[in-house]
Amino acid sequence: MKKIFLFLSALFLIQTSIAQTTHILCGKLIDTKSGKIETNKTIIIEKNKIIDVVDGFLVAKSKNITTIDLKNKVVMPGLIDFHVHIEQEFNPKTQLEKYVLNEADVAFNSVGFAKTTLLNGFTTVRDLGGTGVNISIRNAIDQGKIPGPRVFTAGKSLATTGGHADPTNGGNKLFIGDPGPKDGVVNSIDDAKKAVRQRYKNGADWIKITATGGVLSVAKSGDNPQFTIEEIKAICETAKDYGMFVAAHAHGDEGMKRAILGGVKTIEHGTYMSEETMDLMIKYDVFMVPTITAGKEVAEKATIKGFYPDIVVPKALAVGPQIQGTFGKAYKKGVKIAFGTDAGVFKHGNNGKEFGFMVAAGMPVMETIQSATITNAMLLKMENELGQIKKGFFADIIAVDEDPSKNIATMENVVFVMKDGVVYKQ
Ligand SMILES: [Zn+2]
Repeated sequence: MKKIFLFLSALFLIQTSIAQTTHILCGKLIDTKSGKIETNKTIIIEKNKIIDVVDGFLVAKSKNITTIDLKNKVVMPGLIDFHVHIEQEFNPKTQLEKYVLNEADVAFNSVGFAKTTLLNGFTTVRDLGGTGVNISIRNAIDQGKIPGPRVFTAGKSLATTGGHADPTNGGNKLFIGDPGPKDGVVNSIDDAKKAVRQRYKNGADWIKITATGGVLSVAKSGDNPQFTIEEIKAICETAKDYGMFVAAHAHGDEGMKRAILGGVKTIEHGTYMSEETMDLMIKYDVFMVPTITAGKEVAEKATIKGFYPDIVVPKALAVGPQIQGTFGKAYKKGVKIAFGTDAGVFKHGNNGKEFGFMVAAGMPVMETIQSATITNAMLLKMENELGQIKKGFFADIIAVDEDPSKNIATMENVVFVMKDGVVYKQ
């Protein structure tokens, strides 16, 4: 009953808040650009945009103005998670589900995942791979049919035969067939070009490749290189023609090196990154997306018998615990960091845990918040619309109870969420 009420009131808010002006009274407001916390401000919102931010608490002079009192909260821009899988959530049945779920089942599951993500303060996500339903989810959210974050999606990831994102890994021979570029499997320069163009045609915003083996695929190696540098170059050059950046999943150092030299923009996980490769990241302006939460999760779940297929367990135990330490070293060396969690490998909505793990590895609190706002907005080419609370920006605004620099765990408990000028949680 309570859920139905919440849903109806959310719909009501969607309908009523569009034409109105809203004032948000902020006791504390994080300026993500300067990295400073300002006090006693009012954010003025019209439709889906911030039209001004002024000193003090404005008193509404018209009944058409809605006032939201966040005087005892800490307000900041909506967070951006740069690595989620909005379509899925790993569980002991995941391998089986690949063969029994239809696209409609996947779509219904992801409606819940998208809503949970939004209600936990993540108003924008970069989705790094699924079946292609992620493109429909993005569209449904954009059209206001379902609540969820703004989604920038890679559609289906690209892999080589048997590689981390080969969709038929571990399958019965009746099912595995011979997947090609359309299914995200490439084995030559021509395949690489075709696969990128296919993603563009399907409506992807980014390209994702699995440059090395990975933990959760039903395959032996978690870190071997899986593309030639020529294939990666062909992918990156074609993506550039279509205005897209490339993200590379990589645990092993050799595959990572090839990805950086081949032209990718982000390295996901980066588990066994050498110092030499960290220098390459800096030289080629490539960002690391840490996903420490996923590392912790797989290491923990691997100890539960039967949670993962047997072939996955040793990989999870080896790779998972390394990620946080490598992240700390890379950060200290000067590698640029883009906040990303790999939600979907763990429960959607727990994305905020990543902040605490980053801080524990040595990154200052305010920099973690900047990596989840202005850095990711810039990489999405949305730096003039997302990631700051500023005149002209989208009204994506969240709040927490405490000052994160005093208690970083407050980022796991977002108490207010507005996206596009619409309140989803208050
Ligand atoms: Zn992932």
